[in-house]
Amino acid sequence: MSFVLHGIGVSGGIAIGRAQLVSHATLEVAHYSIAPEQVPAEVERLTQALREVQKELEGLHGAMTSGDAPAEFGAFLDVHWMILTDPTLSEAPKRTIAEQHCNAEWALTQQLGVLVEQFESIEDPYLRERKADVVQVVERVLKVLLGKRGGVPPPDAEEHTILVAHDLSPADVIQFKNHHFAAFLTDLGGVTSHTAIVARSLNVPAVVATHTARALIRENELLIVDGGRNVVIVNPDRAVLREYHLKQSELELERQKLKRLRTTPAKTLDGQQVELHANIELPEDLEQALENGATGVGLFRSEFLFLDRAGLPSEDEQFEAYRAVAAGMNGHPVTIRTFDLGADKHKEGLDGLTRVAPNPALGLRAVRFSLAEPRMFLTQLRAILRASQYGKVKILIPMLSSVGEIDQTLIMVAQAKQSLRDQGMEFDQGVEVGGMIEIPAAVLAIGAFTDRLDFLSIGTNDLIQYTLAVDRADDAVSQLYDPLHPAVLKLIAFAIASAKKAEVPIAVCGEMAGDLQFTRLLLGMGLTNFSMHPAHLLSIKQRVLASDASSARKLVDKMRRIDEPTKLVSLLERLNA
Ligand code: PEP
Ligand code: MG
Repeated sequence: MSFVLHGIGVSGGIAIGRAQLVSHATLEVAHYSIAPEQVPAEVERLTQALREVQKELEGLHGAMTSGDAPAEFGAFLDVHWMILTDPTLSEAPKRTIAEQHCNAEWALTQQLGVLVEQFESIEDPYLRERKADVVQVVERVLKVLLGKRGGVPPPDAEEHTILVAHDLSPADVIQFKNHHFAAFLTDLGGVTSHTAIVARSLNVPAVVATHTARALIRENELLIVDGGRNVVIVNPDRAVLREYHLKQSELELERQKLKRLRTTPAKTLDGQQVELHANIELPEDLEQALENGATGVGLFRSEFLFLDRAGLPSEDEQFEAYRAVAAGMNGHPVTIRTFDLGADKHKEGLDGLTRVAPNPALGLRAVRFSLAEPRMFLTQLRAILRASQYGKVKILIPMLSSVGEIDQTLIMVAQAKQSLRDQGMEFDQGVEVGGMIEIPAAVLAIGAFTDRLDFLSIGTNDLIQYTLAVDRADDAVSQLYDPLHPAVLKLIAFAIASAKKAEVPIAVCGEMAGDLQFTRLLLGMGLTNFSMHPAHLLSIKQRVLASDASSARKLVDKMRRIDEPTKLVSLLERLNA
């Protein structure tokens, strides 16, 4: 039977392929019966998996004591060790296997359910929060049992496979970089969630917030994913299939045409030079950035380098990654953002470091986390500084909200520089330090930022989230996530105008910079530096080439004084006509 699902297209294009269901969530493990004579082997399979995780934890402990990991990391590993070796987790599921003749994964998740219920009834909030640790330990064991991380299919999965998952974390998606999937779908997710952002960087169509895809679609069913139109067609009939094949070829033709603009300088009709930079997550993304004519890296989301593995990266390991990007851009600027961990970007191991935050997006995220972990922060700053002699490196600090944070950060940078000097290590003495403008408070007090920092970059994804109090990753409120909200427009316009007045360079590196409907709006606000996912660079360049910045400015000045959403929509249409 053919049917259509609607969602939010977070990455455009059309893919046609077969469904592969991803069983990532703990609750989604298979349940099957085993013959009585298979019970000892199944128990042994569980014993081996538990032993393997025990070894993993020991390995992490060893690495921690010799590396730069924060001290609390050890305590967190100890808690996991205790949970893992406690008979309620290690023995009870074995009894379930023997009594119910079921598979080990099922027995383990049944026991997890029992334990979670017990934890939820505990009054002490600290102990109640240990529930998250139990879930993490069980997930580790499940990963070993399933023989693959996160249930992600092996890298040789076919090119026309479409992944269908209930939910995926940014760390899951980053693993897909080694795979060749045609598209992917999730039940949950918001348009600027980090999962969606990494999805975009995979360069395949993706639709999130489908709500029911994982439940309704069956393994191997034929799917059409139309990321541009936010739809998924399940079991399409022949006529629809033919139509989509045609559309696919048209899109490809369009892409080929755009390639001709690769080396054309980005200049508006009235002669305004515009910088089009790339947002990257991994050094491998550089190739795509260069292919699409990026004249710099405006945002290197460094936390993605290490998000999908346990433990903290050493200084040398980070240095190698940063150096590769710095050198790879052949003298063009490379803006390395320091770790933006927290909120929806958990790092295995690190989320156990802190309590389970009541509201992670407002909690210990980004620079707040880095300042709370000075050893980790210093290690990263040293690594970036060391890489600075291989290209034009800049340091970008995420989620700054106050002067205190800026000053503390600058002290840390000075310390990192001094420690390198003391060791006779070289770096670019003039490395610029910039801040991301992603909190309304930073816009309203922007003078303190322009006074202290060398450059600014507006992260519209978070600026919108924090201005409108809408969780960017929560599809239940995604209809409220509105880049065209008058408050958002006023904040962006004010930030750009203030930075210009103070003669501090300012860019936009949030998703708005790569969205064609906002190019003229941003040009009209006076923006001349856009940073976006590489796949959008050429179409944005095409729009810049066909725009007149000064006439855009007149309309945008009018928009800044309007609070009526419908009027704003019609003015935007006029601007884009
Ligand atoms: C932003 O918030 O707009 C941004 C670019 O940073 P991130 O999406 O990584 O939070
Ligand atoms: Mg951000």
